[in-house]
Amino acid sequence: MDVHQPAVYKEPAPVLDKENPFESMMNRFDVAAHLLKLDPGLYEYLKTPVKQVVVSIPIAMDNGEIKVFEGYRVIHNDILGPSKGGIRFAPDISLDEMKALAAWMTWKCAIMNIPFGGAKGGVKCDPTKLSPLVVEKITRRYTANMMDIFGPDRDVPAPDMGTNEQVMAWIMDTYSMHVRRTEKAVVTGKPLIIGGSLGRREATGRGCMIVTLTAMERLGMKPKDTTVVVQGFGNVGSVTAQLLAEQGCRIIGVGDVDAAYYNKKGIDVNKSIEWAKTNRSLAGFQDADRITQEELLELECDVLVPAAKEDQITPRNAPKIKAKIICEGANGPTSAKADPILRGKGILVIPDILANAGGVTVSYFEWVQDRIGYFWSLDRVNKQLETMMKAAFNSVYETAEQYKVTLRIGAYILAIDKVARTLKLRGIYG
Ligand code: NAD
Repeated sequence: MDVHQPAVYKEPAPVLDKENPFESMMNRFDVAAHLLKLDPGLYEYLKTPVKQVVVSIPIAMDNGEIKVFEGYRVIHNDILGPSKGGIRFAPDISLDEMKALAAWMTWKCAIMNIPFGGAKGGVKCDPTKLSPLVVEKITRRYTANMMDIFGPDRDVPAPDMGTNEQVMAWIMDTYSMHVRRTEKAVVTGKPLIIGGSLGRREATGRGCMIVTLTAMERLGMKPKDTTVVVQGFGNVGSVTAQLLAEQGCRIIGVGDVDAAYYNKKGIDVNKSIEWAKTNRSLAGFQDADRITQEELLELECDVLVPAAKEDQITPRNAPKIKAKIICEGANGPTSAKADPILRGKGILVIPDILANAGGVTVSYFEWVQDRIGYFWSLDRVNKQLETMMKAAFNSVYETAEQYKVTLRIGAYILAIDKVARTLKLRGIYG
C-alpha cells in the first residue's frame, strides 16, 4: 500500500475534547517500537530519561522579597551526541512534561541525522509578569545551577516558550563567566552578534516549506495549482506562508489566535504579515473575508499547515478536513485519535518531528559555526538545510512504505531504530 492511499477506514474512537499531546506521542512510540520488534530491554532504556535534574532558584525580587522558583532539565538520551533542547519559562510546566518533550527532541535529531541527543528544560515562572531584571536573575541562577549539566560537548539549550535570544545571551554569558572563557557553543538561538546563525529565525518555516514541496512533488502537485491554508501566524506560520507563496502556491486562508481570514483568489502574505506586525494581531485585516477558527481548518484546500499549538486536529474535526497534505508546523497539532481518521481519508500528514525540525537543524549549524569560529553565508545555511530536510523526508517516506504505515509512524520507526542500533554498537556500560 502506498503511504498516501486510504487504509481501511474504521469508525473513529470516542470523541475526546482534549488529549494529552505527550501521551499521544508515547502512543506512537509504542506502535513504532512494536513494529520494529524492539527488544524489551531496549524499549525500557529508550523510554526512560538518562538524567532528570530539579533545582531551586532563590531570587531577590524587585521589592526585596525572596522567592524560590523551581527549575528543571531532563536529558532523555545522549547516545547520538550531546543532548539538545529548549528552555521553557512558563507557569504550568512539570517534570513529566519535560520528560516527554525531551524524548521528542531525541527522535527529531535522529530523523534529521543530527549528532545530538534530546533534552528539555525550564523554570516554573510567568515571564510576562516579571521584570526583565528578575528574568535575567532567574536565567543566570538557573544556568549556574546547571553548570554540571550544560556544556558544548554535554548538553546544549535553545529557546522555547517564554524564552528568547536575550535569555540565550544571558545563558552564554553566565556559563562563560564560570568556565573563564567565552563559550558560544553552549547554547543556540543566540543573537547574531554573539554567535547566532544567519537563517535561524526563518529555519522552522523554511523547513516546513521544503518538506511540503517535496511531498507535493511525490504526489505530482504543482505549486502554481496548489492552495494553502495556514493556522497560526507567528514565527513558523508566517514564514511558511511567505515562502510557499514565493514558490508560487496560493495562500487562501490564514489565522492567528484572534481571527481567521479567507480569500479564494489568494491572500497577499506580505501585506498580512505587515498587518499582523503593526497591529500585533491579524484581527481587522482588510483584504479577505473573516471566517471562524473551525472554518479555517476545514477549508477546501490542497495543503493545511497547522502552525499554532497542540491538539488542533482531533476526532471532532478530522472527518471534515479536506486538505490533501497536512504539514505539522506546530508540535503535536494532531491528536493520536485523529491519526486513523486522516489516514482513512487518504491525507498525507508530514509529522511534526520531521516537518518542524528545520529549527533544530539550523541550531546544529549554529553550534558547528561557533565551534569552528567561522560563520556561514545565508545561502550556505539555506542550501544545507534544504539538503538535510529533503534527505530526512525521503528516508521517512521510504521507511513508511517499507512498513506500510503513515509517515508519522515511519518517522518514529526510523528514529527509534537509529538510536537503538547506535546503543547496541556502543554497548551498555555497567
Ligand atoms: P509564535 O508564538 O511565534 O506563534 C504562534 C501563533 O499561533 C500566533 O500567531 C498565535 O496567535 C497563534 N495561535 C495561538 N493559539 C492559537 C489558537 N488557539 N488558534 C489559532 N491560532 C493560535 O510561536 P511559533 O514559534 O511560531 O511556534 C508555533 C508552533 O510551532 C508551536 O507549537 C511550537 O512549539 C512549534 N515549533 C516552533 C519552532 C520555532 O523554531 N519557532 C520550532 C519547532 C516547533
